[in-house]
Amino acid sequence: MEQYLCNPLFKKLGSIADEQGISVFVIGGYVRDIFLKRQSKDIDILVIGNGIDYAEKVGKALGTAVSIFKNFGTAMLRYNDLEVEFVGARKESYRSNSRKPIVEDGTLEDDQKRRDFTINTLAISLNKDSYGELTDPFKGIEDMDLRLIRTPLDARETFSDDPLRMMRAIRFAAQLHFVIDEEAINAIKLNKERIGIVSKERVTDELNKIILSECPSVGFEYLFDTGLLELIFPQMAQLYGVEVINGKGHKDNFYHTLEVLDNVAAMSDDLWLRWAAILHDIAKPATKRFDPLHGWSFHGHEDKGARMVPKIFSQLKLPLNEKMKFVQKLVQLHLRPIVLAQALITDSAVRRLLFDAGEDIEALMLLCHADVTTKNEYKKKKYRQNFELVKQKLKSVEERDQIRNWQPPVSGNDIMELFNLKAGKEVGLIKNYIREGILEGEISNTRDEALKFALKKAGELGLKPVRQLL
Ligand code: ATP
Repeated sequence: MEQYLCNPLFKKLGSIADEQGISVFVIGGYVRDIFLKRQSKDIDILVIGNGIDYAEKVGKALGTAVSIFKNFGTAMLRYNDLEVEFVGARKESYRSNSRKPIVEDGTLEDDQKRRDFTINTLAISLNKDSYGELTDPFKGIEDMDLRLIRTPLDARETFSDDPLRMMRAIRFAAQLHFVIDEEAINAIKLNKERIGIVSKERVTDELNKIILSECPSVGFEYLFDTGLLELIFPQMAQLYGVEVINGKGHKDNFYHTLEVLDNVAAMSDDLWLRWAAILHDIAKPATKRFDPLHGWSFHGHEDKGARMVPKIFSQLKLPLNEKMKFVQKLVQLHLRPIVLAQALITDSAVRRLLFDAGEDIEALMLLCHADVTTKNEYKKKKYRQNFELVKQKLKSVEERDQIRNWQPPVSGNDIMELFNLKAGKEVGLIKNYIREGILEGEISNTRDEALKFALKKAGELGLKPVRQLL
Protein backbone atom coordinates (compact mmCIF):
# COMPACT_ATOMS: atom_id res chain seq x y z
CA MET A 1 0.00 0.00 0.00
CA GLU A 2 2.84 2.36 0.92
CA GLN A 3 3.77 2.85 -2.71
CA TYR A 4 0.41 4.56 -3.29
CA LEU A 5 0.95 7.01 -0.48
CA CYS A 6 3.85 8.71 -2.22
CA ASN A 7 2.62 12.22 -1.44
CA PRO A 8 4.94 13.41 1.43
CA LEU A 9 1.85 14.89 3.09
CA PHE A 10 0.77 11.43 4.31
CA LYS A 11 3.95 10.80 6.36
CA LYS A 12 3.64 14.28 7.83
CA LEU A 13 -0.01 13.68 8.80
CA GLY A 14 1.02 10.39 10.44
CA SER A 15 3.83 11.91 12.50
CA ILE A 16 1.64 14.79 13.74
CA ALA A 17 -0.99 12.22 14.79
CA ASP A 18 1.71 10.14 16.57
CA GLU A 19 2.80 13.23 18.50
CA GLN A 20 -0.82 13.74 19.60
CA GLY A 21 -1.30 10.06 20.40
CA ILE A 22 -4.29 9.70 18.06
CA SER A 23 -5.04 7.45 15.07
CA VAL A 24 -5.62 8.90 11.62
CA PHE A 25 -6.63 7.31 8.31
CA VAL A 26 -7.04 8.35 4.72
CA ILE A 27 -10.53 7.17 3.81
CA GLY A 28 -13.26 7.16 1.16
CA GLY A 29 -12.96 8.34 -2.44
CA TYR A 30 -9.20 8.87 -2.38
CA VAL A 31 -8.52 5.25 -1.39
CA ARG A 32 -11.12 3.92 -3.82
CA ASP A 33 -9.51 5.91 -6.63
CA ILE A 34 -6.05 4.52 -5.85
CA PHE A 35 -7.36 1.05 -6.66
CA LEU A 36 -9.32 2.24 -9.67
CA LYS A 37 -6.31 4.22 -10.96
CA ARG A 38 -8.37 7.40 -11.10
CA GLN A 39 -7.17 10.91 -10.42
CA SER A 40 -8.47 12.30 -7.09
CA LYS A 41 -8.82 15.96 -6.20
CA ASP A 42 -9.71 15.59 -2.54
CA ILE A 43 -8.23 13.71 0.37
CA ASP A 44 -10.51 12.79 3.27
CA ILE A 45 -8.70 12.30 6.57
CA LEU A 46 -10.49 10.46 9.35
CA VAL A 47 -9.38 11.24 12.88
CA ILE A 48 -10.28 8.99 15.80
CA GLY A 49 -10.89 11.97 18.05
CA ASN A 50 -11.41 15.64 17.37
CA GLY A 51 -10.96 16.36 13.66
CA ILE A 52 -10.89 20.13 14.05
CA ASP A 53 -8.18 20.20 16.76
CA TYR A 54 -6.02 17.88 14.69
CA ALA A 55 -6.55 19.92 11.51
CA GLU A 56 -5.42 23.06 13.36
CA LYS A 57 -2.20 21.31 14.41
CA VAL A 58 -1.61 20.20 10.82
CA GLY A 59 -2.29 23.72 9.52
CA LYS A 60 0.27 25.14 11.96
CA ALA A 61 2.90 22.57 11.00
CA LEU A 62 2.37 23.23 7.27
CA GLY A 63 2.02 26.99 7.67
CA THR A 64 -1.36 26.83 5.90
CA ALA A 65 -4.72 28.41 6.68
CA VAL A 66 -7.44 26.02 7.89
CA SER A 67 -11.14 26.56 7.22
CA ILE A 68 -13.28 25.29 10.06
CA PHE A 69 -16.92 24.20 9.71
CA LYS A 70 -17.97 23.91 13.35
CA ASN A 71 -21.57 22.87 12.56
CA PHE A 72 -20.34 19.88 10.58
CA GLY A 73 -17.38 19.12 12.86
CA THR A 74 -15.07 19.27 9.84
CA ALA A 75 -12.08 21.32 8.74
CA MET A 76 -10.35 21.82 5.42
CA LEU A 77 -7.01 23.03 4.13
CA ARG A 78 -5.36 23.27 0.76
CA TYR A 79 -2.10 21.50 0.10
CA ASN A 80 -0.67 22.30 -3.33
CA ASP A 81 -3.66 21.69 -5.61
CA LEU A 82 -5.32 19.19 -3.28
CA GLU A 83 -8.19 19.83 -0.90
CA VAL A 84 -7.66 17.99 2.36
CA GLU A 85 -10.71 17.51 4.54
CA PHE A 86 -10.59 16.41 8.20
CA VAL A 87 -13.39 14.77 10.10
CA GLY A 88 -13.63 13.04 13.49
CA ALA A 89 -14.90 9.44 13.42
CA ARG A 90 -18.64 9.41 14.04
CA LYS A 91 -21.58 7.19 14.61
CA GLU A 92 -24.81 8.27 12.98
CA SER A 93 -28.49 7.58 13.49
CA TYR A 94 -31.36 8.92 11.42
CA ARG A 95 -34.92 10.17 11.83
CA SER A 96 -37.51 9.60 9.10
CA ASN A 97 -38.11 13.18 8.01
CA SER A 98 -34.59 14.45 7.44
CA ARG A 99 -31.31 13.58 5.77
CA LYS A 100 -29.54 15.08 8.78
CA PRO A 101 -28.34 12.39 11.18
CA ILE A 102 -27.94 12.52 14.94
CA VAL A 103 -24.17 12.30 15.37
CA GLU A 104 -22.04 10.90 18.19
CA ASP A 105 -18.31 10.25 18.45
CA GLY A 106 -17.44 6.82 17.14
CA THR A 107 -14.77 4.30 16.25
CA LEU A 108 -13.17 3.64 12.85
CA GLU A 109 -15.70 0.89 12.25
CA ASP A 110 -18.66 3.08 13.25
CA ASP A 111 -17.45 5.61 10.74
CA GLN A 112 -16.99 3.05 7.98
CA LYS A 113 -20.53 1.77 8.63
CA ARG A 114 -22.06 5.19 8.07
CA ARG A 115 -20.55 5.43 4.58
CA ASP A 116 -22.68 4.85 1.52
CA PHE A 117 -21.00 2.07 -0.49
CA THR A 118 -18.49 -0.63 0.30
CA ILE A 119 -16.04 0.83 -2.23
CA ASN A 120 -16.18 4.12 -0.30
CA THR A 121 -15.48 2.57 3.12
CA LEU A 122 -11.82 1.66 2.62
CA ALA A 123 -9.39 3.24 5.10
CA ILE A 124 -5.58 3.28 5.15
CA SER A 125 -3.71 3.99 8.38
CA LEU A 126 -1.20 6.86 8.45
CA ASN A 127 0.31 6.28 11.93
CA LYS A 128 3.91 5.10 11.87
CA ASP A 129 3.47 1.66 13.42
CA SER A 130 0.65 0.70 11.02
CA TYR A 131 1.47 2.99 8.09
CA GLY A 132 -0.20 1.79 4.86
CA GLU A 133 -2.39 -0.85 6.51
CA LEU A 134 -5.74 -1.20 4.79
CA THR A 135 -8.97 -1.70 6.76
CA ASP A 136 -11.69 -3.19 4.59
CA PRO A 137 -14.41 -4.65 6.83
CA PHE A 138 -17.12 -4.69 4.12
CA LYS A 139 -15.16 -6.32 1.28
CA GLY A 140 -14.84 -3.15 -0.73
CA ILE A 141 -11.80 -4.50 -2.61
CA GLU A 142 -13.76 -7.59 -3.65
CA ASP A 143 -16.62 -5.36 -4.87
CA MET A 144 -14.17 -3.30 -6.86
CA ASP A 145 -13.00 -6.48 -8.60
CA LEU A 146 -16.61 -7.43 -9.21
CA ARG A 147 -17.33 -3.84 -10.31
CA LEU A 148 -20.23 -3.73 -7.90
CA ILE A 149 -21.99 -0.88 -6.06
CA ARG A 150 -23.16 -2.38 -2.77
CA THR A 151 -24.10 -0.83 0.57
CA PRO A 152 -22.14 -1.84 3.70
CA LEU A 153 -25.29 -2.27 5.81
CA ASP A 154 -28.89 -3.15 4.98
CA ALA A 155 -29.59 -1.44 1.64
CA ARG A 156 -33.16 -0.46 2.55
CA GLU A 157 -31.96 1.34 5.66
CA THR A 158 -29.03 2.95 3.88
CA PHE A 159 -31.28 4.52 1.24
CA SER A 160 -34.11 5.33 3.59
CA ASP A 161 -31.72 7.11 6.00
CA ASP A 162 -30.25 9.32 3.31
CA PRO A 163 -32.13 9.10 -0.02
CA LEU A 164 -29.45 11.14 -1.81
CA ARG A 165 -27.47 7.89 -1.74
CA MET A 166 -29.86 6.48 -4.37
CA MET A 167 -28.67 9.15 -6.80
CA ARG A 168 -25.06 8.61 -5.69
CA ALA A 169 -25.33 4.85 -6.35
CA ILE A 170 -26.47 5.50 -9.90
CA ARG A 171 -23.90 8.26 -10.38
CA PHE A 172 -21.04 5.97 -9.29
CA ALA A 173 -22.35 3.17 -11.54
CA ALA A 174 -22.34 5.62 -14.47
CA GLN A 175 -18.95 7.17 -13.69
CA LEU A 176 -17.15 3.92 -12.91
CA HIS A 177 -19.01 1.59 -15.30
CA PHE A 178 -20.09 -0.50 -12.30
CA VAL A 179 -23.22 -2.55 -11.78
CA ILE A 180 -25.56 -1.85 -8.87
CA ASP A 181 -26.12 -4.87 -6.63
CA GLU A 182 -29.61 -6.37 -6.96
CA GLU A 183 -30.50 -5.87 -3.32
CA ALA A 184 -29.56 -2.21 -3.65
CA ILE A 185 -31.67 -1.84 -6.79
CA ASN A 186 -34.67 -3.33 -5.03
CA ALA A 187 -34.08 -1.04 -2.05
CA ILE A 188 -33.99 2.00 -4.36
CA LYS A 189 -37.29 0.92 -5.95
CA LEU A 190 -38.77 0.60 -2.47
CA ASN A 191 -37.48 3.96 -1.23
CA LYS A 192 -37.76 6.01 -4.41
CA GLU A 193 -40.44 8.33 -3.04
CA ARG A 194 -38.06 9.44 -0.30
CA ILE A 195 -36.06 11.32 -2.93
CA GLY A 196 -38.65 14.02 -2.17
CA ILE A 197 -36.86 14.95 1.08
CA VAL A 198 -33.62 15.75 -0.78
CA SER A 199 -33.13 19.29 -2.05
CA LYS A 200 -33.58 19.70 -5.80
CA GLU A 201 -30.11 21.22 -6.06
CA ARG A 202 -28.45 18.10 -4.62
CA VAL A 203 -30.44 15.82 -6.92
CA THR A 204 -29.55 17.90 -9.97
CA ASP A 205 -25.91 17.98 -8.92
CA GLU A 206 -25.85 14.18 -9.10
CA LEU A 207 -27.90 14.19 -12.32
CA ASN A 208 -25.32 16.49 -13.94
CA LYS A 209 -22.53 14.15 -12.85
CA ILE A 210 -24.40 11.28 -14.52
CA ILE A 211 -24.82 13.38 -17.66
CA LEU A 212 -21.10 14.21 -17.65
CA SER A 213 -20.05 10.56 -17.38
CA GLU A 214 -18.56 8.77 -20.36
CA CYS A 215 -21.70 6.84 -21.27
CA PRO A 216 -24.63 8.69 -19.63
CA SER A 217 -27.26 6.20 -20.84
CA VAL A 218 -26.04 3.74 -18.17
CA GLY A 219 -27.17 6.15 -15.45
CA PHE A 220 -30.43 7.08 -17.16
CA GLU A 221 -31.41 3.45 -17.62
CA TYR A 222 -30.95 2.92 -13.88
CA LEU A 223 -32.90 6.09 -13.12
CA PHE A 224 -35.73 4.93 -15.35
CA ASP A 225 -35.80 1.29 -14.24
CA THR A 226 -35.85 2.19 -10.54
CA GLY A 227 -38.68 4.70 -11.02
CA LEU A 228 -36.55 7.64 -9.86
CA LEU A 229 -36.64 9.38 -13.25
CA GLU A 230 -40.44 9.60 -13.18
CA LEU A 231 -40.13 11.45 -9.86
CA ILE A 232 -37.21 13.78 -10.52
CA PHE A 233 -37.66 14.48 -14.24
CA PRO A 234 -41.07 13.17 -15.40
CA GLN A 235 -40.91 14.81 -18.84
CA MET A 236 -38.00 12.57 -19.75
CA ALA A 237 -39.63 9.40 -18.42
CA GLN A 238 -42.66 10.18 -20.60
CA LEU A 239 -40.53 9.73 -23.71
CA TYR A 240 -40.59 5.99 -23.01
CA GLY A 241 -42.75 3.61 -25.00
CA VAL A 242 -43.99 2.70 -28.44
CA GLU A 243 -47.61 3.07 -29.48
CA VAL A 244 -48.91 0.94 -32.32
CA ILE A 245 -52.03 1.76 -34.37
CA ASN A 246 -53.05 -0.20 -37.47
CA GLY A 247 -49.80 -2.09 -37.18
CA LYS A 248 -47.74 1.11 -37.39
CA GLY A 249 -45.47 2.01 -34.49
CA HIS A 250 -43.17 4.95 -33.87
CA LYS A 251 -39.69 4.72 -32.41
CA ASP A 252 -39.19 4.69 -28.64
CA ASN A 253 -38.18 8.25 -27.96
CA PHE A 254 -36.61 7.48 -24.60
CA TYR A 255 -34.06 5.06 -26.02
CA HIS A 256 -33.57 7.24 -29.08
CA THR A 257 -32.78 10.20 -26.78
CA LEU A 258 -30.30 8.08 -24.83
CA GLU A 259 -28.58 7.08 -28.06
CA VAL A 260 -28.33 10.70 -29.16
CA LEU A 261 -27.00 11.64 -25.72
CA ASP A 262 -24.31 8.95 -25.84
CA ASN A 263 -23.39 10.03 -29.38
CA VAL A 264 -23.00 13.64 -28.23
CA ALA A 265 -21.04 12.50 -25.16
CA ALA A 266 -18.59 10.67 -27.43
CA MET A 267 -17.89 13.95 -29.24
CA SER A 268 -18.17 16.67 -26.59
CA ASP A 269 -17.70 17.21 -22.84
CA ASP A 270 -20.02 20.19 -22.81
CA LEU A 271 -22.75 19.73 -20.18
CA TRP A 272 -25.16 22.06 -21.97
CA LEU A 273 -24.77 20.41 -25.33
CA ARG A 274 -25.54 17.14 -23.54
CA TRP A 275 -28.63 18.79 -22.03
CA ALA A 276 -29.68 19.84 -25.53
CA ALA A 277 -29.44 16.18 -26.58
CA ILE A 278 -31.62 15.16 -23.62
CA LEU A 279 -34.24 17.77 -24.45
CA HIS A 280 -34.23 17.80 -28.24
CA ASP A 281 -37.32 15.57 -28.57
CA ILE A 282 -38.85 16.35 -25.17
CA ALA A 283 -42.12 17.57 -26.71
CA LYS A 284 -42.68 14.46 -28.83
CA PRO A 285 -45.22 12.93 -26.41
CA ALA A 286 -47.16 16.21 -26.33
CA THR A 287 -47.23 16.64 -30.12
CA LYS A 288 -47.79 13.03 -31.15
CA ARG A 289 -50.55 12.43 -33.74
CA PHE A 290 -51.61 9.44 -35.79
CA ASP A 291 -52.93 9.84 -39.30
CA PRO A 292 -54.21 6.68 -41.06
CA LEU A 293 -52.60 7.80 -44.31
CA HIS A 294 -49.28 9.17 -43.15
CA GLY A 295 -48.74 7.36 -39.87
CA TRP A 296 -47.16 9.03 -36.83
CA SER A 297 -46.09 12.66 -36.72
CA PHE A 298 -44.69 14.97 -34.05
CA HIS A 299 -45.42 18.21 -35.81
CA GLY A 300 -44.01 21.30 -34.09
CA HIS A 301 -42.18 19.34 -31.39
CA GLU A 302 -39.12 21.58 -31.84
CA ASP A 303 -41.13 24.76 -31.05
CA LYS A 304 -43.04 23.24 -28.17
CA GLY A 305 -39.84 21.62 -26.89
CA ALA A 306 -38.06 24.98 -26.88
CA ARG A 307 -40.98 26.47 -24.94
CA MET A 308 -40.75 23.64 -22.37
CA VAL A 309 -37.07 24.28 -21.65
CA PRO A 310 -37.44 27.18 -19.15
CA LYS A 311 -39.99 25.26 -17.03
CA ILE A 312 -37.79 22.16 -16.94
CA PHE A 313 -34.70 24.21 -16.08
CA SER A 314 -36.58 25.97 -13.32
CA GLN A 315 -37.99 22.68 -11.93
CA LEU A 316 -34.51 21.18 -11.85
CA LYS A 317 -32.91 24.35 -10.47
CA LEU A 318 -30.67 24.58 -13.50
CA PRO A 319 -29.46 28.11 -14.32
CA LEU A 320 -31.98 30.35 -16.09
CA ASN A 321 -29.27 32.21 -17.97
CA GLU A 322 -27.44 32.07 -21.30
CA LYS A 323 -26.83 28.31 -20.81
CA MET A 324 -30.58 27.78 -20.84
CA LYS A 325 -30.90 30.02 -23.91
CA PHE A 326 -28.25 27.92 -25.67
CA VAL A 327 -30.15 24.70 -24.92
CA GLN A 328 -33.41 26.32 -25.99
CA LYS A 329 -31.90 27.50 -29.27
CA LEU A 330 -30.55 24.04 -30.09
CA VAL A 331 -33.89 22.37 -29.32
CA GLN A 332 -35.64 24.94 -31.48
CA LEU A 333 -33.27 24.51 -34.43
CA HIS A 334 -32.48 20.81 -34.26
CA LEU A 335 -34.47 19.88 -37.36
CA ARG A 336 -33.18 22.64 -39.59
CA PRO A 337 -29.92 21.07 -40.79
CA ILE A 338 -31.76 17.80 -41.41
CA VAL A 339 -34.39 19.56 -43.50
CA LEU A 340 -31.58 21.29 -45.38
CA ALA A 341 -29.81 18.01 -45.97
CA GLN A 342 -32.94 16.51 -47.51
CA ALA A 343 -33.76 19.34 -49.88
CA LEU A 344 -31.93 21.17 -52.61
CA ILE A 345 -29.68 23.47 -50.61
CA THR A 346 -30.24 27.09 -51.53
CA ASP A 347 -27.86 29.83 -50.40
CA SER A 348 -30.69 31.72 -48.74
CA ALA A 349 -31.67 28.69 -46.60
CA VAL A 350 -28.04 28.36 -45.53
CA ARG A 351 -27.83 32.07 -44.70
CA ARG A 352 -31.01 31.81 -42.61
CA LEU A 353 -29.60 28.88 -40.65
CA LEU A 354 -26.34 30.76 -40.06
CA PHE A 355 -28.32 33.81 -38.99
CA ASP A 356 -30.51 31.88 -36.53
CA ALA A 357 -27.78 29.64 -35.08
CA GLY A 358 -25.06 32.32 -35.01
CA GLU A 359 -22.08 31.31 -32.85
CA ASP A 360 -23.74 27.99 -31.99
CA ILE A 361 -23.79 26.58 -35.50
CA GLU A 362 -21.04 24.00 -34.79
CA ALA A 363 -22.82 22.78 -31.65
CA LEU A 364 -26.04 22.48 -33.65
CA MET A 365 -24.36 20.50 -36.42
CA LEU A 366 -22.85 18.17 -33.83
CA LEU A 367 -26.26 17.59 -32.23
CA CYS A 368 -27.81 16.86 -35.62
CA HIS A 369 -25.03 14.44 -36.52
CA ALA A 370 -25.69 12.64 -33.22
CA ASP A 371 -29.44 12.62 -33.92
CA VAL A 372 -29.01 10.20 -36.84
CA THR A 373 -29.65 6.90 -35.04
CA THR A 374 -31.23 4.85 -37.81
CA LYS A 375 -30.16 1.22 -37.83
CA ASN A 376 -30.38 1.21 -41.63
CA GLU A 377 -26.73 1.59 -42.62
CA TYR A 378 -27.61 2.77 -46.12
CA LYS A 379 -29.84 5.56 -44.77
CA LYS A 380 -27.28 6.48 -42.12
CA LYS A 381 -24.54 6.85 -44.72
CA LYS A 382 -26.78 8.89 -46.99
CA TYR A 383 -27.83 11.26 -44.18
CA ARG A 384 -24.27 11.77 -43.08
CA GLN A 385 -23.10 12.43 -46.65
CA ASN A 386 -25.84 15.03 -47.02
CA PHE A 387 -24.70 16.57 -43.77
CA GLU A 388 -21.21 16.91 -45.12
CA LEU A 389 -22.68 18.80 -48.07
CA VAL A 390 -24.57 21.11 -45.70
CA LYS A 391 -21.36 21.69 -43.74
CA GLN A 392 -19.39 22.59 -46.87
CA LYS A 393 -22.14 24.89 -48.00
CA LEU A 394 -22.27 26.54 -44.55
CA LYS A 395 -18.54 27.12 -44.78
CA SER A 396 -18.52 28.63 -48.26
CA VAL A 397 -21.59 30.83 -47.67
CA GLU A 398 -20.13 32.07 -44.39
CA GLU A 399 -16.81 32.88 -46.01
CA ARG A 400 -18.57 34.95 -48.63
CA ASP A 401 -21.42 36.57 -46.68
CA GLN A 402 -20.30 36.56 -43.02
CA ILE A 403 -23.68 35.92 -41.50
CA ARG A 404 -22.93 34.08 -38.26
CA ASN A 405 -21.98 37.21 -36.31
CA TRP A 406 -24.23 39.37 -38.40
CA GLN A 407 -24.56 43.01 -37.44
CA PRO A 408 -26.87 45.16 -39.57
CA PRO A 409 -24.64 47.05 -42.07
CA VAL A 410 -27.02 50.02 -41.70
CA SER A 411 -28.07 50.84 -38.14
CA GLY A 412 -31.35 52.21 -36.83
CA ASN A 413 -29.58 55.53 -36.17
CA ASP A 414 -28.38 55.69 -39.78
CA ILE A 415 -31.97 55.24 -40.95
CA MET A 416 -33.33 57.88 -38.55
CA GLU A 417 -30.74 60.42 -39.71
CA LEU A 418 -31.17 59.62 -43.38
CA PHE A 419 -34.95 60.07 -43.38
CA ASN A 420 -35.26 62.39 -40.38
CA LEU A 421 -37.33 59.82 -38.49
CA LYS A 422 -37.96 59.34 -34.80
CA ALA A 423 -37.50 55.81 -33.38
CA GLY A 424 -40.61 53.88 -34.35
CA LYS A 425 -42.30 51.38 -36.61
CA GLU A 426 -40.88 52.68 -39.89
CA VAL A 427 -37.27 52.32 -38.71
CA GLY A 428 -37.96 48.73 -37.73
CA LEU A 429 -39.63 48.03 -41.07
CA ILE A 430 -36.67 49.33 -43.07
CA LYS A 431 -34.22 47.36 -40.90
CA ASN A 432 -36.25 44.20 -41.55
CA TYR A 433 -36.27 44.86 -45.31
CA ILE A 434 -32.47 45.10 -45.25
CA ARG A 435 -32.04 41.91 -43.22
CA GLU A 436 -34.46 39.98 -45.42
CA GLY A 437 -32.85 41.37 -48.58
CA ILE A 438 -29.46 40.10 -47.43
CA LEU A 439 -30.73 36.70 -46.27
CA GLU A 440 -32.70 36.20 -49.49
CA GLY A 441 -29.65 37.18 -51.54
CA GLU A 442 -31.29 40.20 -53.19
CA ILE A 443 -28.38 42.34 -52.03
CA SER A 444 -24.91 41.56 -50.68
CA ASN A 445 -24.04 42.00 -47.00
CA THR A 446 -22.37 45.41 -47.54
CA ARG A 447 -23.16 48.92 -46.32
CA ASP A 448 -23.22 50.33 -49.80
CA GLU A 449 -25.86 47.94 -51.17
CA ALA A 450 -27.84 48.01 -47.91
CA LEU A 451 -28.09 51.85 -48.06
CA LYS A 452 -29.29 51.81 -51.67
CA PHE A 453 -31.80 49.10 -50.78
CA ALA A 454 -33.00 51.12 -47.77
CA LEU A 455 -33.54 54.11 -50.03
CA LYS A 456 -35.60 52.06 -52.47
CA LYS A 457 -37.73 50.43 -49.76
CA ALA A 458 -38.22 53.74 -47.94
CA GLY A 459 -39.38 55.27 -51.24
CA GLU A 460 -42.05 52.56 -51.47
CA LEU A 461 -43.20 53.68 -47.99
CA GLY A 462 -43.37 57.30 -49.22
CA LEU A 463 -40.21 58.43 -47.36
CA LYS A 464 -37.56 60.68 -48.86
CA PRO A 465 -33.97 61.10 -47.68
CA VAL A 466 -33.14 64.45 -46.07
CA ARG A 467 -29.45 64.23 -46.97
CA GLN A 468 -27.10 62.76 -49.53
CA LEU A 469 -26.13 59.11 -49.31
CA LEU A 470 -22.65 58.16 -47.92
P1 ATP B 1 -16.36 12.26 -5.76
O1 ATP B 1 -15.27 13.14 -5.26
O2 ATP B 1 -16.18 11.71 -7.11
O3 ATP B 1 -17.74 12.85 -5.56
P2 ATP B 1 -16.19 10.80 -3.29
O4 ATP B 1 -16.42 9.37 -2.94
O5 ATP B 1 -14.91 11.41 -2.84
O6 ATP B 1 -16.35 10.94 -4.86
P3 ATP B 1 -17.57 12.74 -1.71
O7 ATP B 1 -18.94 13.26 -1.91
O8 ATP B 1 -16.43 13.67 -1.72
O9 ATP B 1 -17.43 11.58 -2.77
O10 ATP B 1 -17.56 11.96 -0.32
C1 ATP B 1 -16.41 11.49 0.32
C2 ATP B 1 -16.72 10.21 1.10
O11 ATP B 1 -17.74 10.48 2.08
C3 ATP B 1 -17.32 9.12 0.22
O12 ATP B 1 -16.30 8.33 -0.37
C4 ATP B 1 -18.15 8.33 1.19
O13 ATP B 1 -17.35 7.48 1.97
C5 ATP B 1 -18.67 9.41 2.15
N1 ATP B 1 -19.99 9.96 1.76
C6 ATP B 1 -20.25 11.04 1.02
N2 ATP B 1 -21.56 11.28 0.90
C7 ATP B 1 -22.17 10.30 1.60
C8 ATP B 1 -23.52 9.98 1.91
N3 ATP B 1 -24.53 10.72 1.43
N4 ATP B 1 -23.77 8.93 2.71
C9 ATP B 1 -22.77 8.20 3.19
N5 ATP B 1 -21.48 8.41 2.95
C10 ATP B 1 -21.16 9.45 2.18
